[in-house]
Amino acid sequence: MSKTTAQRAQLSNRLLAALPRKEHQRLLPKLELVNLAFGDILYEPGDVITHVHFPNNSIISLLSAVAERSTLEVGIVGNEGMAGISVFMGVNVSHNQFLVQGRGTAMRMKAEVLRNEFNHSGPLDLLLRRYSYSLMTQISQSAACNRFHTVDARLARWMLMTHDRIGTDEFQLTQEFMSNMLGVRREGVSKAAGELQRKKLISYSRGLVTILNRQGMEKVACKCYQVIKESENSLG
Ligand SMILES: [Zn+2]
Repeated sequence: MSKTTAQRAQLSNRLLAALPRKEHQRLLPKLELVNLAFGDILYEPGDVITHVHFPNNSIISLLSAVAERSTLEVGIVGNEGMAGISVFMGVNVSHNQFLVQGRGTAMRMKAEVLRNEFNHSGPLDLLLRRYSYSLMTQISQSAACNRFHTVDARLARWMLMTHDRIGTDEFQLTQEFMSNMLGVRREGVSKAAGELQRKKLISYSRGLVTILNRQGMEKVACKCYQVIKESENSLG
């Protein structure tokens, strides 16, 4: 990919775009534009994180293994953040599975390069501290959400969070995927998706979701959606 394409793509990650121009230019050679495909697994629990990813229009889900062949989404990282925040906190081994939930591009940086950046105590360091806090809010809110809120409300919240990050009304989503994300059986997912369709909030066919009525979706989603969004907005 040409340098201009890389520069343009880099700007669509909001954390990188929030850096002062000079800092941005300095970091550019240390960032590599990569394509992520739907369903790719970047890391499994226990893997050494070799690169951190700043998604542009892609989405990376952080999944926790709760039982054999059973997972639950604990966090979602899109253009508002960076996947691999544990590297920033001094831990190189992944605790989660990193699964590409939305295909697209990301800027990746070698973990060791990011570690060197900490010594600068520059703008990136400060931004990542604030982002860590925002991601912590998202993860703790999701823990409560998974325990207390209905599948319909959780599915709506998750689709809204995906919609915000991916930037298109239509995105890929299989029932198996939704079932792994929400930690519920396929029948439960199919019932909840059917309910959203009946209300004409989404259309869903052949693994493709289209958001038809965003406001309606916001009414169905649990309040966790707003709590998480506010913490992201405070990043600037
Ligand atoms: Zn909730």
